[in-house]
Amino acid sequence: MKTVGLIGGMSWESTIPYYKIINEIVKEKLGGLHSAQIILYSVEFDEIEKCQSSGQWDKSAEILGNAAKKLELAGADFILICTNTMHKVVPQIQNMISVPIVHIADATADSLERDKVSKVALLGTKYTMTQDFYKSKLIDRGFEVFIPDEEDIEIVNHVIFDELCVGVINKDSQKKFSEIIGKLKDKGAQAVILGCTEIGLLIKEENSVLPIYDTTLIHATKAAELLLG
Ligand code: GLU
Repeated sequence: MKTVGLIGGMSWESTIPYYKIINEIVKEKLGGLHSAQIILYSVEFDEIEKCQSSGQWDKSAEILGNAAKKLELAGADFILICTNTMHKVVPQIQNMISVPIVHIADATADSLERDKVSKVALLGTKYTMTQDFYKSKLIDRGFEVFIPDEEDIEIVNHVIFDELCVGVINKDSQKKFSEIIGKLKDKGAQAVILGCTEIGLLIKEENSVLPIYDTTLIHATKAAELLLG
């Protein structure tokens, strides 16, 4: 079995499912007492969030790159960054290490392609929804990407940082997200990417009029597949 290095803590609420999903798949495939070889580097999210909101992306890349280096030194065969947003700095982090980073948007695009979805809604932080680093990965592979209007972007971003990242699951927010997904369906989306690793804590299939693509589940599943070779 290979060893996966997880850069987590962004937020830690969404790192827990990674650990669980990877182990569950290994257990399901190998049975008995088998479990996954995982090294976790969990960062201080307050520091990372301050880099995001002040636009100091290079500083955040340095922090995550140093974490990745330590994971490589500790024996990780490949790395997962357990957040969509911080994939903005994947090129810089990849430059600092020689083991591969498994990109969350690539894994998600593979999954959508397999299901023949071509028009997809994207929910995530305002950085993920409005900037190019994530959407371009999807657009380059031929997907049409729909994001919420400005007001709804603010709502989604607020719920992520002020509720989900601090462990608050709010019924009203769940309803708002469901409505936003409904609007994106009306625009023509065939499915919705939960493009923030915490959204799966709030939105399940039954809360969504569109099929959901939960990036945490997809990314962690990919890691388990790679672990088992
Ligand atoms: N975990 C979230 C994501 O997947 C948001 C936290 C962050 O800004 O890294 O984007």
